[in-house]
Amino acid sequence: MPNCTRRELLGTAATTVGGWILLSGESGAAQTPAGQSTELPAGPYQLPPLPYDYGDLEPYIDAETMKLHHDKHHAAYVKGANAAFAELERIRQVGAEEVARIRAVTEELSFHTCGHILHSLLWQCMKKGGGGDPPAGSELHTLITRDFGNLIAFKAQFSAAAQQVHGSGWAVLVFEPLARRLLIVQAEKHQNLAVWGGMPLLVLDVWEHAYYLRYQNRRSDYIKAFWEVVNWEHVQQRCQQALLLAG
Ligand code: MN
Repeated sequence: MPNCTRRELLGTAATTVGGWILLSGESGAAQTPAGQSTELPAGPYQLPPLPYDYGDLEPYIDAETMKLHHDKHHAAYVKGANAAFAELERIRQVGAEEVARIRAVTEELSFHTCGHILHSLLWQCMKKGGGGDPPAGSELHTLITRDFGNLIAFKAQFSAAAQQVHGSGWAVLVFEPLARRLLIVQAEKHQNLAVWGGMPLLVLDVWEHAYYLRYQNRRSDYIKAFWEVVNWEHVQQRCQQALLLAG
């Protein structure tokens, strides 16, 4: 993107995050040319199809969990996000008499939109035949080694963050563009404890609905299984995109 200034790029990023995340992501950073996003219709969110079959992540993630998780849980966040947008539009039109509801609806908007974004990422972060380590020599490998010491320490910290989420939430590997470094954060529910501007690269859902059918209360076994299906090539592509957008 040689003719694109950093400012233009960031402006684009701000309006394309949803679409960017929902891309299959196979062609990397060059997929978000400046100006493209503003030409897209600002329609409602849609449930993206799973990029594989429900049973493809067996025996690590079972087909029944994948079907419920995608078709019911993720679908509910899409519906909830769109409902919140519609409700805000209605409140703007009605005006003063309904304005006291802004707080509640804004909370709903954050919860459901973040749920939709994280689940869309989650499906991409896994694949049949995944696992192993980030590609040797990749930017992702370099940054993980620099910021966490080594891959073993990184995986241990990420697993512990996932294990220790209070209640329902996520572990998220984030690229923080101000310092251009990686962080591991926990997200309670979908939206709390996030780092502003941080670009999520790798996400792990530790809501009970993500693992209870197969693993019951054994969250740690589910976390162990997750590492066997991680799609590192996709995480590396997101890392490249994040570096580009950070300028
Ligand atoms: Mn979930």
